[in-house]
Amino acid sequence: MFILPKQRDRIRWVVLFSALFSSCVAKPPREKGTFKNSDLVELIKLDPTIKLDIRYATSKNLAGRPVYTEARAFLQRPAAEALSRANKALELLGYRLLVFDGYRPWSVTKIFWDITPATGKQFVANPKKGSRHNRGCAVDVSLYEIASGKEVAMPGEYDEMSERSYASYAGGTPQQRALRDLLRSKMEENGFTGLDAEWWHFDYKDWKSYRIQNIPFSQL
Ligand SMILES: [Zn+2]
Repeated sequence: MFILPKQRDRIRWVVLFSALFSSCVAKPPREKGTFKNSDLVELIKLDPTIKLDIRYATSKNLAGRPVYTEARAFLQRPAAEALSRANKALELLGYRLLVFDGYRPWSVTKIFWDITPATGKQFVANPKKGSRHNRGCAVDVSLYEIASGKEVAMPGEYDEMSERSYASYAGGTPQQRALRDLLRSKMEENGFTGLDAEWWHFDYKDWKSYRIQNIPFSQL
């Protein structure tokens, strides 16, 4: 179809306006029912021996640019206390927890969904349903060795969209698989449930009791 320059300008303007409008009006899903009051706790304030590597505050993440303006991690208080207990249990074995992410504002879940191609959607949460991270009840975590202070090698990298991310992946070295399984067992002993598709992701048992939230870190 032949489009006159004037019409083309109009179409461009409408497309741009629609994109801006949809990003402005994007809102978390409305949830019915009763929920507990949010009590997000900053993890390193509760347990300073937990290490942070907040990838979403760097360019080393799915988006390729920082999506957090502050490198901080929060969880609902009972989940944060359970995480600290898992950290203490690991300490006896020479390891501690290295946290990549905890509470995540809903708007960030929306960004990840929008930029992920269809082939990778099983690794990201659908913003229509929200993520358990949005409720402050999910944590992305690995281990660091106390002696060296260094992150351990797992069978795959954090947020990698491949078979190496599966908790049941049989590749990698026996040491890598043993550490992945150690992380999972200590988290599960302390009230978290692992996710099959992501060795690093754990949900706290009471996640259904908390609402999806969209509060930025700067307001916490
Ligand atoms: Zn996660």
